[in-house]
Amino acid sequence: MQQTTSPGSQSDSALRIRLQEALTGTSFQLVPASPVTTAAADWAMARTPGGARLVAVPAAGRAGALAEFEGEWSESNGVQVLVAPLTARNAAALRRHLPWLVPRSLPAGTSAGFGDRLGLATPGHVQALRAAGGSIAPVFAQQSIREMTRTGRSPQAVVDDATWGSFEAGWTEGQGADADHLKTAADITACAAAGFTMFTIDPGEHVDPRAESAGPADLRAAWDALPWEQLEDSAPSMRARLAGRAFDVEGHRVSLDEGGLMKAAVKYGRAIAHVKTMFRHVCDVKAGQPFDLEVSVDETDAPTTPAEHAFVASELRRLGVRWASLAPRFVGRFEKGVDYIGDLAAFDADIRVHAAVARAFGPYKISLHSGSDKFAIYDIVAAHTRGMVHLKTAGTSYLEALRAVASISPGLFRAIYEFARERYDQDRASYHVSATLDGAPAPTRLADADLPALLEDFHARQILHVTFGSVLTASRSDGRRVFADDLRSTLQAQPEVYRACLERHFVRHLRPFAGR
Ligand SMILES: [Zn+2]
Repeated sequence: MQQTTSPGSQSDSALRIRLQEALTGTSFQLVPASPVTTAAADWAMARTPGGARLVAVPAAGRAGALAEFEGEWSESNGVQVLVAPLTARNAAALRRHLPWLVPRSLPAGTSAGFGDRLGLATPGHVQALRAAGGSIAPVFAQQSIREMTRTGRSPQAVVDDATWGSFEAGWTEGQGADADHLKTAADITACAAAGFTMFTIDPGEHVDPRAESAGPADLRAAWDALPWEQLEDSAPSMRARLAGRAFDVEGHRVSLDEGGLMKAAVKYGRAIAHVKTMFRHVCDVKAGQPFDLEVSVDETDAPTTPAEHAFVASELRRLGVRWASLAPRFVGRFEKGVDYIGDLAAFDADIRVHAAVARAFGPYKISLHSGSDKFAIYDIVAAHTRGMVHLKTAGTSYLEALRAVASISPGLFRAIYEFARERYDQDRASYHVSATLDGAPAPTRLADADLPALLEDFHARQILHVTFGSVLTASRSDGRRVFADDLRSTLQAQPEVYRACLERHFVRHLRPFAGR
């Protein structure tokens, strides 16, 4: 990714020695990948008895450049040292000094979104990216408003956790930040203010599923009732423009006869109007700053046909919407945390044409939502999208956290699994999952050593996947968290265990896309 400023090129060892000297007499441990130097200071992350801290040693005469940080100054061997907590104010100040930590719009080409519900996964994501090779542009900060609500995190906290994680891992190659599944203008405003650069508009509530089954009279009535004014169109002009139209996309004939047009318009017309409104709102709040818009209709019941995709794209274009990626609802089932369920030949035929439509009307990227663990289709997706693809994973970094906890602290993991089973029937409501409680091993029948294997069990995996919000926010009567604090401190005590789990998991996701 393009950089506005490059990190300092000074030799790593000289930099480490200077920082190490500045920390003489403390028990602080430098995080090895983190040291970086700029004209104003040497910077690093350090583990301290009180938790992780930012350490900065200003260049001679430059201490004033660090005035915006909050923290404690000391002097050691004649050099001044700032030790600063990982606060929002310090994250913002650090981004001003290290501009490669500022989220930015993504380049064309392959990109991947890594959701991180705990805010501790970025160093592991970086390790996976490095191990996978290739040039996949990452999105570390990626949460939907629903996920933020369920985990009690603010948009700013999500961005800041990715800032600290990237800094800790020494990631200087840029990153996007995805405000996922946005449904309202107010959420866009809040996420833009926090520094998000990718806005995934989910108009799913405006997709009309009745179009699939409505008879001719009902379809006609729904067509007449479309919000024509918002669509800046009229029924006769849309019919004249599109009925009987055939798009030739790379040899595939994608056509809309009169009935097909009415069905597509009834199904997606209100969604298109909504996306237009949201897009214009993003333009307003970003005020000329670059951003990436994603249009996602993946969470609808019926698959998006290639003709419907072409209809949506041509109408969004007519309305002046500019988007970087689009997530159709593909054939088959994209359940959380498990492999693709469906006919691979049918999926191949489906995405082949969707990718061609995306090239013909863009080019823009095809976005693969619920993209984690879909190992059966990665090669197919990579082949047809030819590098114009965004792979979006969300909850499996949390599952990898649980895998790490299962090996470090079996008792904590067992308690989480028992609680998740109690919550599953309620929490599954808003997700595409088919696991059953009976299908998952009962906790009483498992020895500690068997617990990590639950993360390979279809049923246990989905049960753990969809209950993250309940687990992370469960509180005792005195307000303390039942699991969340122990979960975080367990992972932070042995960060290399969590990083290794994430690397192993994500390398398998990234490799199929890394060579293109
Ligand atoms: Zn999605």
